[in-house]
Amino acid sequence: MTRKRTPSTYADWQAMAASLSFETRAFVDDKFIGADSGETFATVNPVTGETLGQVASCNAVDAERAGKVAREAFECGEWSRVAPVKRKQVLLKLAELMEANKSELALLDTLDMGKPIQSSLGDMAGAIGCMRYQAESIDKLYGEVAPTGEDSLALVLREPLGVVASIVPWNFPLMMTSWKIAPALAAGNSVILKPSEKSPLSALRLAELASEAGIPRGVFQVLPGFGHTVGKALALSMEVDCLAFTGSTGVGKLLMQYAGQSNLKRVYLECGGKSPNIVFADCKDLERVAYHAAEAIFHNQGEVCIAGSRLLVENSIRTTFVDKLLAASESMQPGDPLNPDSFMGAIVDETQHKGILDYIRRGVEEGATLRAGGKALDGNGLFIPPTVFDDVTDKMVIGREEVFGPVLSVFGFDTDEQAIAMANDSDYGLAAGLWSQDIDRIMRVTRRLESGQVFVNNWAGGDQTVPFGGVKQSGNGRDKSHHSLEEYSDLKSVWFSLA
Ligand code: NAD
Repeated sequence: MTRKRTPSTYADWQAMAASLSFETRAFVDDKFIGADSGETFATVNPVTGETLGQVASCNAVDAERAGKVAREAFECGEWSRVAPVKRKQVLLKLAELMEANKSELALLDTLDMGKPIQSSLGDMAGAIGCMRYQAESIDKLYGEVAPTGEDSLALVLREPLGVVASIVPWNFPLMMTSWKIAPALAAGNSVILKPSEKSPLSALRLAELASEAGIPRGVFQVLPGFGHTVGKALALSMEVDCLAFTGSTGVGKLLMQYAGQSNLKRVYLECGGKSPNIVFADCKDLERVAYHAAEAIFHNQGEVCIAGSRLLVENSIRTTFVDKLLAASESMQPGDPLNPDSFMGAIVDETQHKGILDYIRRGVEEGATLRAGGKALDGNGLFIPPTVFDDVTDKMVIGREEVFGPVLSVFGFDTDEQAIAMANDSDYGLAAGLWSQDIDRIMRVTRRLESGQVFVNNWAGGDQTVPFGGVKQSGNGRDKSHHSLEEYSDLKSVWFSLA
């Protein structure tokens, strides 16, 4: 397999973008086809405003058809019942194909949703790493023999769930996809992927690669389209046994309702966040911490579920710290995402852009102190610079709601108890960070934080071995690690009475 060279300069990426062609049809039953209705939607480059392509807009009819195909594929056993080592070989081949085509996959995500190309390449490493990890894990997962008496034998077997529908967002299009489909496929399920309508292109390229890797007909299908049409239809489908969702808390709540209205399918949710990042006065090297605190919110234009959007700073160092943070933010300005030097790219679309600017306006109206940014950049492209509000309180909308953009809210605190109470004063519980040199304090505070993950003296650390997910209204599922693999299989207890 030949690996294509990864472009390195701005000009290289521009040239590659200019010559790129891509698939826009749905992938059903191992074929690319238009939506049943013939309808399409435009996918738009948020930097140039150009329509990149007209993509198949699937609806309930397409969902029904894909559901039946997925069920047949599951029941025929060509994937679901083969030895795990066979699935491993195919998924490792898929990982190889993703690696060989990673520049193209990264570019599709960047063109589709505006994230910097370097960040898209980072996502590819995460997506490919996940595919490899889950492929390698599946033939190492044992069933159990229960500790019964000698007059019986009880086996606890693991079996795939059936048909899994993965519904994913646009902020890390291919990486979120891989976090869902890799464990679901490895466990032997048939998977129907619904990418976001804002970033469907890399998922369609992945379908081609999956077919080339040898994933059997009907085991992996991709239905582009809108949430309220094809997404809702999948969620209500009697053919779907499990919904694996990443997206907003509001839509997550709807999916649980749809599951209740249909077949009580399992619903794994990875939802939104408003994550607290706590800086204690005893932390070392304030400049370095300030840089990481800025990066925690401005990385990927703030369009990150675990963005460190609430910065809680001990009041004794707050003035100095915020000055250092503003200096660090200066180096994180947005620019053309095809330029490898751009720290931030463009906001995904006009709706999101307007929503972020509305939050900024409300922050000013509510009396927070605007210390940086606050206005869209003039000229082409949906760019918003790093925006920092100080003196934010828990009553303000910008201090409570997920902005999902490059907007930081700074709060002050005086005691550990205050910091813990402020950090936990949120409907969300996805991530939290704390910076301190005092190990007793670190452990005391960490145990009390209501959060699926806590980053100590870093932000966003983790790898494939570590589960990723939230508590409270940030969701109930876990991506990555063997814990996510376990979510995609069921336990079957088999009891033998021995004579
Ligand atoms: P969203 O909830 O609007 O959409 C997510 C997906 O759900 C899309 O594919 C969309 O088409 C689909 N959808 C929308 N309405 C639906 C419906 N009624 N039925 C079925 N499907 C429907 O979220 P988004 O704007 O794409 O992404 C941003 C959100 O995702 C943020 O809240 C962010 O925090 C969250 N997110 C969470 C994680 C995590 O791991 N916890 C990771 C990335 C993003």
